[in-house]
Amino acid sequence: MDRRRWLRLSAATVAGGWAAGCAFPGTGRGWDVAALAGFHPATVSPDRVIRVDAGVRPYRPQGFVVRAEALAGKLLVHNYGHGGGGVTLSWGTAGMAADLITGGGPEGDVAVVGAGAVGLATARLLQRRGRHVTIYARELPPDTTSNVAGAQWSPTSVSDSLDGSFGVQFEEASRRAHRHFQNLVGPDYGVRWIDNYFLSERRLGIPGYMSRIRDLYPGLEDLEGDAHPFPTRFARRVATMFIEPPRYLRALIRDFRLAGGDLVVGEIADQRQLATLPEPVIANCTGLGARELFGDDSLIPVKGQLVVLRPQPALDYLTIGGGRFSRSGNQYMFPRSDGVLLGGTFERGVESPEPDPVQTERILSVHRSFFDAMEEKAGRR
Ligand SMILES: Cc1cc2nc3c(=O)[nH]c(=O)nc-3n(C[C@H](O)[C@H](O)[C@H](O)COP(=O)(O)OP(=O)(O)OC[C@H]3O[C@@H](n4cnc5c(N)ncnc54)[C@H](O)[C@@H]3O)c2cc1C
Repeated sequence: MDRRRWLRLSAATVAGGWAAGCAFPGTGRGWDVAALAGFHPATVSPDRVIRVDAGVRPYRPQGFVVRAEALAGKLLVHNYGHGGGGVTLSWGTAGMAADLITGGGPEGDVAVVGAGAVGLATARLLQRRGRHVTIYARELPPDTTSNVAGAQWSPTSVSDSLDGSFGVQFEEASRRAHRHFQNLVGPDYGVRWIDNYFLSERRLGIPGYMSRIRDLYPGLEDLEGDAHPFPTRFARRVATMFIEPPRYLRALIRDFRLAGGDLVVGEIADQRQLATLPEPVIANCTGLGARELFGDDSLIPVKGQLVVLRPQPALDYLTIGGGRFSRSGNQYMFPRSDGVLLGGTFERGVESPEPDPVQTERILSVHRSFFDAMEEKAGRR
């Protein structure tokens, strides 16, 4: 079936469904027609590709680090190692780092090293607590890893385990971040609420990261078979916030400058150089950079690759997983205003941010099969 016909059929289905008490005419099936409205499959083809992005996640099996120590008479507060959830958790761990600074640390100016999502959130919270902040960063947006992120609000792939004290920190960071992001919803920051569909051939359990913060995933509902439009047996619908990093990070830089912050672009080569900064307090928000700067060998690079199609404004849902269509288990479609992101990869130990053409081909091919099958399913209705 061609797309035009699918759309016509969708519209007719909706109209007919409402008129006929939500039963699809002629099938006798009890479709929840209102729930199926607006489900345009993504159009996937090589000529729609506008770029291929790759970034390297700062992953620590033990989870992120937020803690204070002394460095040459200064207070040094670490805030790094957020794995696949750094945009999500940024305001939460920033709040925890800011507490370590303003709750008994030295008064005065603060140096924040790093201008990704974590550094910018830390800088902004410290400004809001009355501190003058200078950001020192090798890369600024749009050249940070944070710019490559999807970015669904979900603290996913943040650690190997949530046992013990890290689980408590994780929950606190998630809750504080979730609350803060709600203040940013709207076009200015590029944050909105959206339905996510987790797709599978098997009934889904509640994953570990979600179990501690289940209430931060409102509207969770498990749908089976024809109760959803996807070509998989199960679909879990849940609402999350969705962040557009290019717009969001730009807005944070603007806010930082408007609040009187200074930016110094350049690499901090080592701890000796760090100790010569004029500020009495330093926040280390260097992501994967903390491996070299502080010798944290527990940081593991995890490469992620995305294929970006030109925008398709009709798409207004995220898909995650793809049942039998998702061989790698890392399939997702995130429709943003700057392009439709098709993911992805989670390549543990791979350091190079260079896109791999084999992965590009695979990502395109699995999504094409998936959305073709979605269209076929619509045609069978
Ligand atoms: C494909 C992909 C998809 C992702 N999807 C999501 C998602 O959906 N949701 C989500 O929450 N997260 C997602 N992530 C993860 C997210 O991108 C990271 O967790 C996050 O970007 C980490 O932020 P950060 O600020 O710590 O690091 P970065 O963004 O890497 O920023 C680090 C900063 O430190 C600076 N720096 C480092 N070393 C030095 C030094 N020696 N001197 C000076 N400056 C230094 C850098 O220049 C940079 O400014 C994804 C990542 C990838 C790759």
